[in-house]
Amino acid sequence: MSLTTVHTVADLRATVANWRAEGLRVALVPTMGALHDGHISLTHLAHEHADRVIVSIFVNPTQFAPNEDFGAYPRTLPADQKLLDDAGVELCFAPSVEEMYPDGFATKVSVDGAMTNVLCGAPRPGHFDGVAQVVTKLLLQALPDCAIFGQKDYQQLMVIRRFSADLNIPVEIIGAKILREDDGLAMSSRNRYLTPDERAIAPTLNKVLGDITAKAANGAELGPLLAKGREDILSAGFDPIDYLEVRDADTLELISDTVTKPARIFVAARLGKARLIDNHAIEPA
Ligand code: AMP
Repeated sequence: MSLTTVHTVADLRATVANWRAEGLRVALVPTMGALHDGHISLTHLAHEHADRVIVSIFVNPTQFAPNEDFGAYPRTLPADQKLLDDAGVELCFAPSVEEMYPDGFATKVSVDGAMTNVLCGAPRPGHFDGVAQVVTKLLLQALPDCAIFGQKDYQQLMVIRRFSADLNIPVEIIGAKILREDDGLAMSSRNRYLTPDERAIAPTLNKVLGDITAKAANGAELGPLLAKGREDILSAGFDPIDYLEVRDADTLELISDTVTKPARIFVAARLGKARLIDNHAIEPA
């Protein structure tokens, strides 16, 4: 079955209705396009959970602040369609901004609490409201059995789990592990902003997270580990570091002494034009 692309909610729903009539299970993989192997790994996981896979491609304006890269965000639909077709994805849903937010659109979805004011939420007010708004719409438009989100955006995954439970959206939310380049750099659409010199520096983030994770899992004090990590990241050429923090894996509450329960270390730092993020699981020994 080759890839079909639709641009309207009506066509998306008609396709899903036909699949439902055949008794097929459906998975949705929301993306902003500029696809890479990390996204494709999500579609493979989706096919393990469903008979038919939809990948949505939509650069959502409501999750970008005015000073961010909405206009410059890479848009590569023909190349994306080729990758999806090669991966055996059945449907690409690529709506326009007008299809998603027609004239008169007035509804917000806002997730409050400790999960959205920290990490990527602190310097980007409104970012997770925009994510919650668009993902709510995509889940209700497609009404799949399950939807796949990468742990690359771990905070986003936790926020999506929160509002989909709170709003009783009947879709199973599945997290997928981070796919990395051979040198450890987490794959990201924004890696294409890096110059060759910056690309050589970029794997430092994963290395620092790995070093801290190994020691923290064995009970080392986090203070000195994080201080040394910050030093290593800055001296590699990143500037500034938005955050380097260890948090509870479920609640995202800050952990500042030692790790005694499943935790996660998070980093966001700027390298040239790119703001890179990464995270690792810390399982106490
Ligand atoms: P984006 O297009 O950046 O919004 O990402 C779409 C989905 O792909 C999100 O659920 C991301 O977490 C996920 N994703 C992005 N990069 C990776 C990666 N390197 N490994 C696994 N999932 C990823």
